Amino acid sequence: MMMKGIDYFRKLYRSEKVRDVIAGVLDFVDSEDKKYNAFITINRDETLRRAEELDNKKNARGKLFGIPVAVKDNIAVKGVRLTCASRILGNYVSPYSATVVEKLLAEDAIIIGKTNLDEFAMGSSTEYSAYFPTRNPIAPDYVPGGSSGGSAAAVAAGMVPLALGSDTGGSVRQPASFTGTVGLKPTYGNVSRYGLVAFASSLDVIGPLASNLEDAELLYRVISGKDPSDSTSVCHSRSLEEVDRCTIGILDEKWLTTINPAILDAYRRLTADLERAGMKTRIIQTDLWKYALNAYYIITSSEASSNLARYDGVRYGARQEGENLLDMYFSTRTGGFGDEVKRRIFLGTFALSAGYYDKYYKKANVLRELLRREFKENFQGVDFILTPTAPELPFKLGEKVNPIDMYMSDWFTAPASLAGYPAISLPWYRNEQNLPVGIHIIGQAGDEENIFILSKKLNKIISHF
Ligand code: GLN
Repeated sequence: MMMKGIDYFRKLYRSEKVRDVIAGVLDFVDSEDKKYNAFITINRDETLRRAEELDNKKNARGKLFGIPVAVKDNIAVKGVRLTCASRILGNYVSPYSATVVEKLLAEDAIIIGKTNLDEFAMGSSTEYSAYFPTRNPIAPDYVPGGSSGGSAAAVAAGMVPLALGSDTGGSVRQPASFTGTVGLKPTYGNVSRYGLVAFASSLDVIGPLASNLEDAELLYRVISGKDPSDSTSVCHSRSLEEVDRCTIGILDEKWLTTINPAILDAYRRLTADLERAGMKTRIIQTDLWKYALNAYYIITSSEASSNLARYDGVRYGARQEGENLLDMYFSTRTGGFGDEVKRRIFLGTFALSAGYYDKYYKKANVLRELLRREFKENFQGVDFILTPTAPELPFKLGEKVNPIDMYMSDWFTAPASLAGYPAISLPWYRNEQNLPVGIHIIGQAGDEENIFILSKKLNKIISHF
């Protein structure tokens, strides 16, 4: 198994036809995906038709000419099933495409299919898909992370060089960490959410997954930008004169005691390596990080309980009949949603209900604001913050039975999501069982380009790891 980058395809296109290359990709996916179940839908006929169209193209080639891309199945592609890995949307076909999809097509990319996820993007292992779990191509008894596990697995298995995921609390970054791929969560608003099925609208962001940094960067450039169809869309960009001379924020030991000891050990060594390489490091303030997960799960579940009210058996997807209207709602939602989604709807409805709103939802928002302020204060003294991407190694399928254990996966990723800041996960090292571990850089709003510059520098340092 080999990960293939954009370059691999560009070289092929010097001599080969797009249709032939893409037919080969589809055959490879057909056989390879039997092992991993990364895809929910493969778009064979449409994909080949599009490849032929590109072969006949007369005008200039787009930046992603003929590049096969996989799209997480909570992002709309016109005329293609959009399931969110949920039974409630099992037969739903999207009547329009997300802005990110339009942008990919405008650059001549080829969307070959839709990838598996935890139902409605709620989870950290892709085991909460209503259809099937996805396996980690690096170690097939292990999960690929989640919720964008299908997209990460498709890249890690070399089925596609690029994939789109979505990240609300870590869903691009943690799967990247688990599969040895690169995953970016952009600044909130820098990539349009138009056509992304809403989970928690104040945190949801679409992000790129790729086998290497340059490809992730290119994909980010293609999908980002202000979009009039998304009222929260912005165009943040911050230029930093000298990323070379930046100061890196490091977490203090007290914050790290609960994580996997081998990862902690590696983190200590990495800090020492950074200093040896001439980079400045400084320990940051993290007093509020311990509340981040609590705030994250209250806020996202509250938003989800409201966003998911639209699946009522009338407007979208599957319906299960009942004696009367209320009965129909009841059976549609009871049969249509899986356990984890129901858990979030209960939690969110409770947190928003009269009498508990102040105690939970409002308090969580106060914490979110305080956390943002703590980040801002930290960013007075440091330019970036470096953490492991996940507090743990990839785990085995079926290993995590308690939902709270699953929530703990977001330990390092949820804080940046609550603050709306961009963050990347890069392949860091493989442990003695060859399981991938990712390193995580958090920047300030609009820091994507700076994060890419620093990542390249960091890549040199960790290549000796
Ligand atoms: N694991 C987190 C959750 O279940 C993150 C999900 C996401 O980013 N979509 O909420």
